[in-house]
Formats: sequence, structure tokens, C-alpha cells
Amino acid sequence: MGTGDQSESARGLINARRVVIKIGSSLLVHADNGRINRQWLGTLCEDISRMRARGQQVVLVSSGAIALGRRMLRMAPGALRLEESQAAAAAGQVLLAHAYLETLAPSGLQVAQVLLTLSDTEQRRRYLNARNTLKTLLDLGAIPVVNENDTVATEEIRYGDNDRLAARVAQLVSADCLVLLSDIDGLYSADPGLDPQARFIPLVEELTPEVEALAGESRSDVGSGGMVTKLIAARIALGAGCHVAIASGRQEYPLSSLESGGRCTWFIRHASPAAARKQWIAGSLQPHGSLQLDAGARTALLSGNSLLPAGVTAVQGDFERGDAVQLLGPDARVLGHGLSAYSSAEARGIMGVRSSRIEQILGYRGRDELVHRDDLVLFGA
Ligand code: GLU
Repeated sequence: MGTGDQSESARGLINARRVVIKIGSSLLVHADNGRINRQWLGTLCEDISRMRARGQQVVLVSSGAIALGRRMLRMAPGALRLEESQAAAAAGQVLLAHAYLETLAPSGLQVAQVLLTLSDTEQRRRYLNARNTLKTLLDLGAIPVVNENDTVATEEIRYGDNDRLAARVAQLVSADCLVLLSDIDGLYSADPGLDPQARFIPLVEELTPEVEALAGESRSDVGSGGMVTKLIAARIALGAGCHVAIASGRQEYPLSSLESGGRCTWFIRHASPAAARKQWIAGSLQPHGSLQLDAGARTALLSGNSLLPAGVTAVQGDFERGDAVQLLGPDARVLGHGLSAYSSAEARGIMGVRSSRIEQILGYRGRDELVHRDDLVLFGA
């Protein structure tokens, strides 16, 4: 932990290529009347438009569907049953997406709604799908507005809070910076509501168990995340090579405020997203099979290219799309690991053929690469 120079830490945001911003319900929805805080949203969107103009890619993870929907459907105050919150989310999500669409349109920015369930980020097969869709949207210049697919996610299979969802999204898109905006302004040495001596912590250089123990069970009225979920989110994002800021978004222009050294807790990453991803692929995934390469493919990989089906001579094992596989040279020596964009059955069908024939063989147009270069690590390279 450090005292921290906030303007120095804010470089994590200013220099980021890809930023994920989580917006808590309590910022977006007025607690008293359940309506969208249009004035505040306008200033947030101006900030986003400035970031886009600087060439930064932005993903929003926005809460608020349940809070908006319960008002629209005139539901009684108090705790909602699961199916009631799912119904509220179904109604509120329409309003939520529309509010972003309307507010970003004057800056010429397009919005794309992405609703995720836990299995979209935890199951390898879906993980690659979600990652590719989000990256395609970003490359097209759109602003993905992500929320949990509350309408179908039941208790056992939901994130439940958008802090963790935002961290998973940051990991999914290899973001450099995650900003968690809510009514919580950062981390304290004790609960400031209970202890007047509580010190604000502007910088966390190492997320140790001692730091994690500082989180109370703090909860805000409108959203569902507290400091506990924010620190879990910080751990996930830091592990993916992403800087994290926990900040209050209460003031207008919340991102400009952070950039100019505004109050928040910064968590500093120790690796880039690319390095963290490579480490993850190399170390923590058990390979489910292997792909044997011809000499041409081996050379292509060594010079930084992707693996095309044409360069594969044999497929061993039984794996799903998104599973880790070993990459073997022509002499069967292990060259590295990669995530396969096709299942073992599909890979057997397309090995040795040009990518332009994939559609004809499999009946759908998948990726040209069997293992994309972002999804592979070469040992000793
Ligand atoms: N997905 C919920 C919503 O949009 C919010 C979850 C949260 O508050 O973190 O209403």
C-alpha cells in the first residue's frame, strides 16, 4: 500500500488502449424516483466520446436494468424474488440500452448491447465466442454496453454483481484498465462509517490477503456490489494484466475527474494483458489434445503468425473449441500451447486444407485460423 500520487497512477487510464468502465446502478438511477439520471449520464458520455477521440476503445458494463424495470412495471418496494428481478431486468434493460444509445448518438458513437451469463466467460467454448464478438465490435468502433443476462441467469449460474462481471469482461477483451464507478470512493483502512480514524488508501501496489481483509460487507441501497465484490473484481483484473480503479462516480464527468488525479483507489498491475494471457495459456490450462504441424507451419509460428488448418498434419485427443492443445513440431517435439478455435472433430475435418474451404467442409464460416496468434504461446520463443 502506498500514499500514492494519483496523477501518476491515472496514467493507467490515460494511456490505456482498451478500457472497461463499470457503472453502478446507484449512479445511473435516482434512488427516490427510479428514473435515469440524464444529466450525469450526459457528462459520462462526453467523457467517453473524448476517450474514443483519443483512440481508446471503451466497453461499458452497466447495471441499472433491475432498478429501472421495477419502476416501469410498478413493482412494490422491498426485496424482489428471483423471478421478479428477472422480469424487472427484462423490462429495464430496454430502457438502459436506449439511454446509452440516445446519449452517445450526438457524438456519433454506436452502441451494441451484449448480455452475458456466467457460462459465457467460464466455459472455454463460449469464452472464445464472447471474446471474438466483443473484439469485433470494438474494431468496428462501437461501444459495447454489457450487462448480465439477468432474465435467464438463475441463482446458481449468475455472477450476481456487475463488479465481477466487469472484471471478467476486462479479462475477456484483454483490457489495460478497469474502472469501477459506484457510490464507493475507494478502499479504507477500516469501515469509515464505523471508525472515524479510517484512512483512505489511494494506491495498492500488491493485493495481499491483508488488503483483502480490509473489505467490510459494505453495500449500497440500489446496486448489489460492495467492497468485497470490488476486491474480487480487482484480483481477477490484475491477474489479467489490467490496472484497476475503484472510484466514486457521483460527480459529473467522472472519468475526466479520475484522469486529473481525482480521489480513488488505484490497483497497479504487474504484467501487460498480453503477457498475462500468455502466462495463463502456458501455465494454468491442461492440454486436452495436440495438433501436429508441418515444417511450414512451424516456421510461420516461430515468426509470429497464427496456425492455419493447412499446416496441420495430425490431430490427437478429444477437445472442444476453446480448449488448450499442445502444438507439436514435425518431429513431435512440443513447440507450445494454444487455444483451439475448433473442436477435435472439426480440426480433423479441416486439417491440411486451405482456410477458404472451411465453410464447405464444416457447413459454417468459422475463423481462418485453427489457433490464433493471440491464443498461443511458444516455449523457448
Ligand atoms: N445486472 C443488474 C442490473 O442491471 C445489476 C447487478 C449489480 O448491481 O451489480 O440491474
